[in-house]
Formats: sequence, C-alpha cells, structure tokens
Amino acid sequence: METKNAWLKYDEKKRKEIFSFSEQYRQFLSQCKTERECAAEAVAQAEAHGYRNLMDVVAKKEKLVPGDKVYAVCMDKTIALFYLGTEPMEQGMNILGAHIDSPRLDLKQNPLYEDTELAMMDTHYYGGVKKYQWVALPLAMHGVVVKKDGSKIAISIGEDAGDPVFGVSDLLIHLSADQLEKKGKIVIEGEDLNLNVGSIPSKEEKEPVKKAVLSILKEKYDFEEEDFRSAEIEIVPAGAARDYGFDRSMIMGYGHDDRVCAYPSLQAMFRLETPKRTAVCLLVDKEEIGSVGATGMQSRFFENMVAEVLQAMGEYSEIAVRRTLQHSKMLSSDVSAAFDPNYPSVMEKNNAAYLGHGLCFNKYTGARGKSGSNDANPEYLAQLRRILDENQVSWQTCELGKVDQGGGGTIAYIMANYGMEVVDSGVAVHNMHAPWEIISKVDMYEALLGYVAFLENA
Ligand SMILES: [Zn+2]
Repeated sequence: METKNAWLKYDEKKRKEIFSFSEQYRQFLSQCKTERECAAEAVAQAEAHGYRNLMDVVAKKEKLVPGDKVYAVCMDKTIALFYLGTEPMEQGMNILGAHIDSPRLDLKQNPLYEDTELAMMDTHYYGGVKKYQWVALPLAMHGVVVKKDGSKIAISIGEDAGDPVFGVSDLLIHLSADQLEKKGKIVIEGEDLNLNVGSIPSKEEKEPVKKAVLSILKEKYDFEEEDFRSAEIEIVPAGAARDYGFDRSMIMGYGHDDRVCAYPSLQAMFRLETPKRTAVCLLVDKEEIGSVGATGMQSRFFENMVAEVLQAMGEYSEIAVRRTLQHSKMLSSDVSAAFDPNYPSVMEKNNAAYLGHGLCFNKYTGARGKSGSNDANPEYLAQLRRILDENQVSWQTCELGKVDQGGGGTIAYIMANYGMEVVDSGVAVHNMHAPWEIISKVDMYEALLGYVAFLENA
C-alpha cells in the first residue's frame, strides 16, 4: 500500500499558498525558541482572533455561551484554547495537542565561573540530545531572570545580526586521537557542555574575567550573580530558520519538534467557524522530560480548565467534567521520524513516514514491544480515515523505526487515561532532536488541513 507525494496534488497557485503559510511558520519558529516565547505568541495571536482570557471571564463572573472563545495559560508555559461548540460539552470536545518545549542546554543555577582567564557557564542538557551535536556552533541565550522583588527580566541574546553569540568548544582534530576512539555517547560528556561567554579581564585581582562579565550583565540587564539562582535561561541554536533545498520545499530550523505540530494546531483553531463540538488546542511544556510538573501534560491544569469552562457555562458538576473528558477525541501531535536515505537500516520501508507524504498517524509508539505506548483503537482510526479522505488530506501511517531499534513516547497515553479516543499524529522530520531539524512544507500544510477537518468533523 503506497501513499502519494502530496506536492503532486497542487498547481502553481495552490503551491504559493503552501509557501506563504510556511513562511509565516518559518518566522514563528525563528522568533519563538522557548515554551514561554511560544505561549506568549499563542496568547497574542489568540487575542487577535477574539479569544478572551478565561481567568478574566471567571473573575468578572461572566457567562460563557456556544460560539465564545477563551484561552487559559499555566505559568507562562502551557496554553489551552477553547472554542465553544453548539453541542453540549458533555458530549465531548475535539482536542488538538502538541508540545512547545524542545531539547536544549539549560544554564545551571550557579552557572558562571572563570577558568584560565575565560568566563564560562555551566549547563545541564534538557531532553534527549546527542551531546556531540551541540559543540562548535553559534548558540543564543533565551529566558527570564526573576529578581527577589518578583520583577522579571526577559533575556534574548544572539538572534539579531548585531548580537554576540556563545558556544561550546570542540577539540581540534589534530589532538583528537583519544577522543575519536570513544563511543559516540561519550565523545562529548554532559559536564563538558560549558559555554564560553567572555575573555576580557577587569582590574579585579580575583576572577577578573568573570567579574568583567558580571559588570556587563549588571549594566545591560540590571541583574547580579545571585539572581541566576531564580533564573530560567535556555541555550539554543542561534539564528533564523531557513528554507532548505533548491526548490525551497523544506525548512531547516531549531525546535520543529514539536512546533511544526503546535503551529498548525493553533492556526487550525483560527480557521474555524463556530464548531458543533467544542474545539480545543492544548500546547504543553515538559514533554521532552516526561510531561512532568505543573506545566506538563500530567498536570491537572487542563482538567481544571475544563471544569472552569463548564462552571462559566453554568453546567459544572463533577460528573459533567468526567463526561466531557471521556467523550472527547484527540489528535496528540508530535513529530515522527521521516525515512532518511542516509540511514535506511533503522527503518522498515513499508511502515516508515516519508517527507512530503502528508500528516503521519502512529497507531502506537513505545519501545520493546510497544511499552509505554497509547495504542489507538481501529474504530477511531476508521472514523479519522473517513474524515481525512473526504477532505482530500494527504496522510500516512507510520512507526518510529524498526521493531526494537529504539522508540519514543508522547503525551497521548496521558490524555487516554480519561478514557477518551486518542491517536498519535504529526509531521515527519529529519534530524529529530538535532540543533537543526528538517521538515517538508507540504507536510505541515497537510497537517493544517487535517487538523481543521478533524475539529469540524470528528
Ligand atoms: Zn516531540
């Protein structure tokens, strides 16, 4: 059973539309490199499309009715949008979920030190990374520093052409005889991912370079060394996402995983007329480290917000919350591995995803015999097949690599705990979790079409 390349469906005019949608995404990806930046941009776009802050609605004791649009944010890192449908909430919602955190290096809480007249910063990597990919490339610093009085300083250094960048050095090839004998896993070790951030000494006797860096931080950003203790600073690849290939059919960028699903999910919400079933877009944090914490999918945040919406509609009861969740349907979107002709041995060709072949559906994920996976029901898949085919959406089924080659997890199994229908879907990538990942523009466009069709028809 073969799927067709989705580009073949489209004439010149339609391809222009795909390219212009992709350009908006490319700019979003270039500007939003952390979960906080993505959540803030999602709020700005939601408000521009008539969404109101659910907490304002609650505070003013306003009543919500079908056709209303609201959003709720958890700690600036996770966001849920609700577009209230004409059918009762208890009959369930149609939910698009994706995550907005990405693998990166985080600054430690006491990061700054001096070694041999260089100012350095200690990091702790976040999510699954091949550490050797994070050396010898320009890195930017994004995040917040929160001072004791509660004031927040937003940091973004390394993105503008005039900005400095930072980096982790690699060993010169001339002296790498021992290093190159090591296993890939330990060629670069976690504790060696230290950033070089300065080299001009001050007149101080002790740690003159570190002190010079601190005085720059004080002067430019108005914070002191001890403020790092209440900071969250993420080190990410510096620079904009770029068109990829002679034909510009792909995009190379940092954090496609999982913004290439989050972005079309969000845009799908904005393309809807008042839906029958309440439409939801849920963009969550902490997926890359197990969906833990208040802002991860395992948190009660989403369930609480469903309760708030029901309350504001005058329909709240404990059983109403349970029914609303249980009767919901979800596309849990995350990136999939696209077949890569450079690495054919890890893929099983009949069940691999292909760049350009549309939205991916993984019935199951997991590792070592589907362990940890949400195995979607064929009854649900059959309904989705019908919806996608009726709406001329290009889609493919796939697995993440050969059996027992590895595996991965997503947020799908967590939402499935409510007893709702959930399937893993998403966009295929090359270079997953590398500093620069690749996606096909037409795949993201098919995701957008698929998400709209799902919200309207599931
Ligand atoms: Zn992901």
